[in-house]
Amino acid sequence: MKTDCSLTESCRSMSRFQENEKQPSFILSQPLVMASLARVNAFFTGKTGGFRVSAPKPGRPVPVTSRHSKLHVTAQGNGRFIVGGNWKCNGTKASVEALVKGLNAGDIADKVDVVVAPPFLYIDQAMGALHPKFKVAAQNAWVEYTLDDPTHHYDSESGAFTGEVSAEMLEDLQIPWVILGHSERRSLLNEDNKMVGKKVAHARFHGLSVIVCVGETLEERESEKTLEVIFAQLQAVADEIDDREHSSWGSQVVIAYEPIWAIGTGKVATPDQVQDVHAAIREWLKLNVSEEVSKATRIQYGGSVNETNCAELARFSDVDGFLVGGASLDPEKFVQICNSSVVHYKAVGRA
Ligand code: PEP
Repeated sequence: MKTDCSLTESCRSMSRFQENEKQPSFILSQPLVMASLARVNAFFTGKTGGFRVSAPKPGRPVPVTSRHSKLHVTAQGNGRFIVGGNWKCNGTKASVEALVKGLNAGDIADKVDVVVAPPFLYIDQAMGALHPKFKVAAQNAWVEYTLDDPTHHYDSESGAFTGEVSAEMLEDLQIPWVILGHSERRSLLNEDNKMVGKKVAHARFHGLSVIVCVGETLEERESEKTLEVIFAQLQAVADEIDDREHSSWGSQVVIAYEPIWAIGTGKVATPDQVQDVHAAIREWLKLNVSEEVSKATRIQYGGSVNETNCAELARFSDVDGFLVGGASLDPEKFVQICNSSVVHYKAVGRA
């Protein structure tokens, strides 16, 4: 599903939405919320064009709430909880063997998709030994960035691309998932929004399921540019994805919201911060892609998630799972994080 909407158009439509005082996208669940309402409105009206947050209308369904946030969204997702383990550039044959053994011994709850991403060299070893309840992801896939083909057919199956691995190769080896646009690649390897968008579309074209990472730096958050940055990252994906076979939005394009300041720092975003951004992403999908896609898309949170903070975050209606770095190298901790799905389904009334 291709959308031509630009960020400006998206902002414009949000402003129109604000002017018209239509159905609120976000509602607050308790009477004491008028102060919070101002805070939330301020958050969403920064430089992004503005969402309007309104008090609940009578007769609205009972919202999903937690003691941390009065904010909730009426249109939560309907996808399966999904947890990813990003092993990054870690491991040896022996440590991968031990990690796989630990994961296979874990008791994973029903109704949770689990995807682990070993470094390329250990994918074969991990895939051959993991129980089928664990799916495997690559941590990157090549696309020929310089080729500006309006038909989006970036033929990159082979060629002079030293050191790269293509989506065609992942498809050939039946590696079902790929993580794209991780902030470490964006910052260390200069992957820009356009490149990430092309990679997502190309990977989808080859039937790969994608976890695409978005997120802001601390500086961007402090200057209230969080949503502007994230919407631009999403728009770059929307600009490339079209309606070719497989190449579509939906349950197989997972968005991982990973504030860069929370990755590997031990500094986890607050549940309010996470839910606020996830709700805004879902609203963006609704306005710029479709309502159906906004519901089907799983939105993960990533950034210092561990076995002690996962349950608190999983309670939120728009937290459809996690992308985990450090803690995914410990099988017991990782299994506990996967099983926070139980908390999520219970909190959102889907147990
Ligand atoms: C990540 O790398 O995607 C990540 C979230 O890392 P960590 O959990 O270690 O913060």
